[in-house]
Amino acid sequence: MPSSLPHPTSLCHRCGACRVIVSARGSVFLLCTARPEKYLPQPVHRCPAYTPAEPPDPDP
Ligand code: SF4
Repeated sequence: MPSSLPHPTSLCHRCGACRVIVSARGSVFLLCTARPEKYLPQPVHRCPAYTPAEPPDPDP
């Protein structure tokens, strides 16, 4: 996982459909698994497909 994520204000970071993809060259992309576009123009501030990500388990 990269130390800093691109577009920190993006709604995608709080969405369960977002996957962080790191290329072989170290570029970081936000992949959407819920919309056909997959790589949306960032930052996303509104999205009809937004689903809140599960919070991390505090007691794994
Ligand atoms: S559903 Fe919307 S908010 Fe969620 S990752 Fe895809 S584009 Fe981002």
